[in-house]
Amino acid sequence: MKLIEKQHLFVRLLPKLLDFAVNLAEKNGWFVTEGDAFRDPRVHGEYGVKQSYSGANSNHKLRLAIDINLISDGVLLGAEAHEELGKFWKKLHPLCEWGGEPGRNDANHYSLNHNDSW
Ligand SMILES: [Zn+2]
Repeated sequence: MKLIEKQHLFVRLLPKLLDFAVNLAEKNGWFVTEGDAFRDPRVHGEYGVKQSYSGANSNHKLRLAIDINLISDGVLLGAEAHEELGKFWKKLHPLCEWGGEPGRNDANHYSLNHNDSW
């Protein structure tokens, strides 16, 4: 799949993710806010280059990722709060990846897999 096709797919899936996140937050008395989405290469470096806090090969630079913040009483919630949302996201499409999966430590990160096959 070409990058542009993945970017289109990500935008197609994003409203579903956000809707689920808002409903999850409201059900639990939390707030949801947007974190980083696209990371501009002028600030974060081109894909493959580390220039900021962003990883060199971050999917944010490819318009294939968003960070979603779940907040309760002014506190940013951790992986446990994201579990249901992460499972929902992973079921939407085989390319969907969640930063809260075992071995990762980025629970508010939702992205599409990109393996340089484009
Ligand atoms: Zn992220």
